[in-house]
Order: sequence, then C-alpha cells, then structure tokens
Amino acid sequence: MEIKQIASILKAPAPHMVGDGFRVHNFFPGGYKIEMSPFFLMDYGSKIEFSARKNPRGVGIHPHRGFETVTIAYHGAIAHHDSTGKSGIIYAGDVQWMTAARGILHKEYHEENYSLTGGSFQMVQLWINLPSKDKMGKPGYQSIKKAEMANIELPDQGGKIEVIAGNYQGITGNANTFTPIHVYNARLNKGGKVNLSFPANYNTGLMMIEGEIEVNGKEIAHADSFVHFQNNGTEIEIEALSHSVILILSGEPIDEPIAHYGPFLMNTAAEIQQALSDYNQGKFGYLEE
Ligand code: MN
Repeated sequence: MEIKQIASILKAPAPHMVGDGFRVHNFFPGGYKIEMSPFFLMDYGSKIEFSARKNPRGVGIHPHRGFETVTIAYHGAIAHHDSTGKSGIIYAGDVQWMTAARGILHKEYHEENYSLTGGSFQMVQLWINLPSKDKMGKPGYQSIKKAEMANIELPDQGGKIEVIAGNYQGITGNANTFTPIHVYNARLNKGGKVNLSFPANYNTGLMMIEGEIEVNGKEIAHADSFVHFQNNGTEIEIEALSHSVILILSGEPIDEPIAHYGPFLMNTAAEIQQALSDYNQGKFGYLEE
C-alpha cells in the first residue's frame, strides 16, 4: 500500500462576490490550474459575518447545463428554488445535490430567518461534471439533511466521517452519482486519526474548513487551504492537531473534452452554442423572480 503523495497545499485565492450573498474563493478552475476532474469547479465561501438584513442577499435566476451543483453549508442557511419546481433550505450540515443536466434555472439566497439575524456564513459549492451520455438527461434534486447523513464513528473518540457520496469502510453515502465519486465530511476531535484509501488515478483533495491537520505524517494544512494530491499511491493518513472539519473529495477523472462558457459545461463549442440558443428560447423552463 503506497502513500498518496501531496502535490501542493494551496492557499485560498482572493475572494470575489457571487451576487451579493456569496463571498467565495475559487480554488479551481480559476484560482489554480489543477486536475480535479470530475470536480470542475470549487467555490469556497470562507467564514464571514453577514449583518442582519430584511431582504436576503443572494444570486438571482440563472441557468446551468451539463453538470451538477453540490452545495454544502457549514454555517448559515441557503434557500434554493428551481425551474423544476424544487425548493429547499440548506441548513448548516446539510448538502444539496442538484443535477442540472439538460438545463435548469435556479436562484440561491440566504434563508429568510438567517438573513434577519445575520451571523456566521461558510459554505462550499462544487460543480461536478457529467459524462457526455448524461449531460442532456433529466434534471434532478437530492436534499441530504445532516440528521439522515450516513456516518461512521472513528475509533478512540477521534470524531466521525459523514459520507455524502461514494463509500467509506463499507458505509455508502446518500447521494446518487453518475461517475465514481467519494465526498465526505470529516469532523475530527484533536488527536483524531483517519486513514483514507482511493485509487491512484482518482483526482483527490482535502478542503480544510476548520482546524489544522497533519497529512501523511509530515505536512501541516490549516483552515481555508486545499491539499491537492498527486495521481500516485492510494493511502492518505490524517491526524487532527486541533478540532478540524475537512471536506474530502476524490473521483475518477472523466476523460472527455471540455467546453465551458459561464454556467454551461459541455464537450464541444457547438453544444455551448446550442445551450445559449436553448436558454434564449426559454427552453430551460420558468422560475418566478
Ligand atoms: Mn447556480
């Protein structure tokens, strides 16, 4: 069993606002040119205090096609509405797994009551690519509440692993995925140890949400950084140096061409043109302001 070596520990790039509600650090594909397929994009909303406001901050109606958006809330609460009629609130600890596939319109706002009081806000949004055969499939929506999340207690009161997708030591996550993907939250107590094992070719990284950890017995990663691994070896050893929360990502690369324009992620330029044309013709459905 070979150790999966660290490629680099990346600091959070300068943040930007998405609408007026999401202050995010785009680790990839903008901030760093790293190979993380099938994870195409990661916006990390580091912890921020929002003041109280009557009209919730957020981002208005916009389309997506060709991939999935996965939103994971750590602090605060996010309200979602989309053109398939689905809506929901992502509270701290919850995950929303939205499959845009052939097209969806949605809007993402701070949840009303959170907005009224303000307070801490911290989240991650991932864009997970879909293989060509599924890009024009039916849109979908999976809401995974913290209370029902598959989880496994670590030995010696080390903490726990919440399995969002894929599996960890025989425990399978709730999210259905189109390609092999593992997504976990590790919530570790000081001194807690975790061993991970992913195939060598899987693109793998750790988003440090909170705390600090030692990885593979040598390098130290702090909150707000991303630990990116090389595509060699299979084993990762983590020890928490303080109470830590880590978003763990590993997936089999999708070996297909990428054509990306704004909120569309396809294989060819012609498919992007088609997406724009379909969007302009109202084929992504309807959503009330
Ligand atoms: Mn969106």
